[in-house]
Amino acid sequence: MTMMVQPFLQRSTSERDSSEFYTIATLGSHSALQILKGARDEGFKTLAIAAPDTERLYKSFGFIDEVITIQKYSEFMGLVPELEKRKIIIVPHGSFVAYLSLDDHKKMSIPYFGNKAVLDWEASRELQRQWLTRAGLKVPRQFRTGAEIDRPVIVKLYGAQGGKGYMFLRHSQDFDERAGLLARQDYILQEYVIGVPFYIHYFYSPLTGKLEIMSMDRRYETNVDSLGRIPSRAQEGMDIDPSYVVVGNSPLSLRESMLAEAYRMGEDVVRVSQEICGPKGLFGAFCIETIITPDAQFYIMEVSARIVAGTNLFIDGSPYSYLNYSEPMSTGRRIAREIKNALLSNSLNTVLDDSTQVS
Ligand code: AMP
Ligand code: AMP
Repeated sequence: MTMMVQPFLQRSTSERDSSEFYTIATLGSHSALQILKGARDEGFKTLAIAAPDTERLYKSFGFIDEVITIQKYSEFMGLVPELEKRKIIIVPHGSFVAYLSLDDHKKMSIPYFGNKAVLDWEASRELQRQWLTRAGLKVPRQFRTGAEIDRPVIVKLYGAQGGKGYMFLRHSQDFDERAGLLARQDYILQEYVIGVPFYIHYFYSPLTGKLEIMSMDRRYETNVDSLGRIPSRAQEGMDIDPSYVVVGNSPLSLRESMLAEAYRMGEDVVRVSQEICGPKGLFGAFCIETIITPDAQFYIMEVSARIVAGTNLFIDGSPYSYLNYSEPMSTGRRIAREIKNALLSNSLNTVLDDSTQVS
């Protein structure tokens, strides 16, 4: 990976012309406001695809030029032929993964910011584990059967959204008692790492070969983040189980002596992605979800290969993006800036998935 800092271009008429030519579109949910505000700030037209219950919200923002309403987000594929006829670039976020099937997501033929080859490596917990391990990152131990469990574990259901249905088990007897609940479900048994969850947001530019740390957050999860508010003595006999349903996020900064390691982890994840997912590898926004233990070790729970909702805290920029930019730079705006720089250097296809290239 080349480490080259390219000075960002000053706004000029030709720059405005190139970005005004295209519309940046996304599903109205997750981080759509951030993406579309960033797109407008970089001079693009903006389009939100909303559902009947979100239409009024997206129409209420002046930076959104157009709202198209569909009955359900899962019906998005029906809109694709119409969008294909226009100069549209799709910026995906978590709702594309949550509401579209992997097949539809891959089939969508509109110019798409990102590399869809990463989707398979991200969607399979096994492939993702291989990716992280090959990058030299520490991952929690995994157990194949209940009998193997020799420490606290978290049961993660496949396809769970936002931690829904996850379970904490203290030991293998716990597993035996819950086995009935887990029958006919696909799940993994992962070592429960005791430490602080820390989500690090990155941006890797395929145009400059440079990785940036954009921001960081922690998730606020119910009820696990509130159990400390009740003394453990009082919890005894209350039949409370921790659950991990995300409802919000709060900002964090990382102890500076740990920042070099966070940066290295991002570089390693990108480097290995270029070996396993074709030369383009993982580019644009991504997040490494970590738990940091008392000996300052990062354990990696997951990689999210696109903008994560924790970046919504930083629509006006973060302490880290401020170090790289002298203007507010959200992750959404950084994506639009990359598309704009690609247009200006006649290399739009560099930032689009290979199956959605423009001529
Ligand atoms: P939504 O658009 O809210 O239905 O979310 C789509 C996906 O993104 C779901 O899998 C959510 O769990 C995840 N997600 C949404 N909002 C957040 C958030 N604030 N923090 C972390 N993940 C989120
Ligand atoms: P995930 O679906 O991997 O994003 O996990 C959702 C939440 O479950 C995380 O934000 C953590 O609070 C918790 N979690 C996931 N994996 C682990 C683990 N190995 N150890 C402890 N907590 C975890």
